[in-house]
Amino acid sequence: MLQQTIGEPLEVEGIGLHSGAKSKVVLKPLADNRGIVFRRADIAGAPEVSALWSNVKDTRNCTCLEDSAGNRISTIEHLMAALYARGIDNVLAEAYAEELPIMDGSAAVWYDFLQKVPLVSGSAPRRLLKVKKEVSFVDDKGNRAVLEPCADGLEVSFAIDFPSKIVGHQVFCGRITPELFAAEIAPCRTFCEKYQVDYLQSVGLIKGGSLDNAVVLDGDTVLNPGGLRHPHECVNHKVLDALGDLYTSGYRILGKLTAEKTGHFHNNRLLAALFADNSNFEVV
Ligand SMILES: [Zn+2]
Repeated sequence: MLQQTIGEPLEVEGIGLHSGAKSKVVLKPLADNRGIVFRRADIAGAPEVSALWSNVKDTRNCTCLEDSAGNRISTIEHLMAALYARGIDNVLAEAYAEELPIMDGSAAVWYDFLQKVPLVSGSAPRRLLKVKKEVSFVDDKGNRAVLEPCADGLEVSFAIDFPSKIVGHQVFCGRITPELFAAEIAPCRTFCEKYQVDYLQSVGLIKGGSLDNAVVLDGDTVLNPGGLRHPHECVNHKVLDALGDLYTSGYRILGKLTAEKTGHFHNNRLLAALFADNSNFEVV
């Protein structure tokens, strides 16, 4: 398999979740071996930062990249997951704001756009990383993320536990394919509790947050008029986030991810553990 990029530019507009301000991204073709590169087109000099785990500087509410001068680009994870699933190895994402558009809180809009754009192959082989040894990251509460070898492809086993009866204990197990991603993962939205929304808005965050871009739970009630899109929307969204975050490895990972109650922080620390020892993996 050869590396792929997009055959023509693609423009996507929306609003930033935290700023509430308009946000635009223009995706452009990029040469072999450049990977996924973000550019802040709204800043003098248009600084660039590669979407690599080592450039991830904030994982509190999203995955945020930062260059050496402190220029940030945040909420990259849903676009990253869509690029991964679509099989795009190299692309330049020109952003006109610090935050990428949140769209509907899922990867569905990104993936729909990417499916409509033609892809072109380069001449270099695809960058694949085969996990050779088990690596893990466990936080101080025992929540853990593990990568281990797997026959082929990327397998994910994800479990979450939330007190709300709407969420409760949810499990996802599957081998990630474009078809599975499109049907089961891409449409699943980010979710939160109403009290979290109230708090974040009281401190000036999520100004753009609404029932149009997140599932909001109030105890055992879903506040969104249309309810859930999938009975396991919450865990499937965590899988979506993990796929986007794992793509900041700079490779398509061949292995199995097992995750229990983890998020962006764990995904990033797991990649740090993976790359801490060259014998953990093989580039194939
Ligand atoms: Zn997310």
